[in-house]
Amino acid sequence: MRSWRARWAELALLDASGQGPELDVCLECGRAPIAGEALRWDEEGAGIRCASHALGGAFSSDALRLMRALRRFAPEELVSLALPPAPQREVSWALRVAVHLLFGTEPKSRSFMDEVLAP
Ligand SMILES: [Zn+2]
Repeated sequence: MRSWRARWAELALLDASGQGPELDVCLECGRAPIAGEALRWDEEGAGIRCASHALGGAFSSDALRLMRALRRFAPEELVSLALPPAPQREVSWALRVAVHLLFGTEPKSRSFMDEVLAP
């Protein structure tokens, strides 16, 4: 992930603020997703939902895997993480809306964050 370090920082920021996204169970029904299940991302609540609830953008199981990895591992440990671009875009989008909701605005310059945190 090209700018995974910045995404890692965004998720850490959300977690530190107590607004970390829900990644373990569906925000609507509390069910834990099964491996490989296609999900949705709840932009308002910041977290995952079953695809059947209709609310939220598409969020793949790979994206969930990546998001969980961002939370679980230190940046240095994520270097070897190799995932196709699609889930990276989903995670990037999900974190952007979560940060936007939390702070009411886009971080001053997202590209700046990408640059200073680039390996
Ligand atoms: Zn559900």
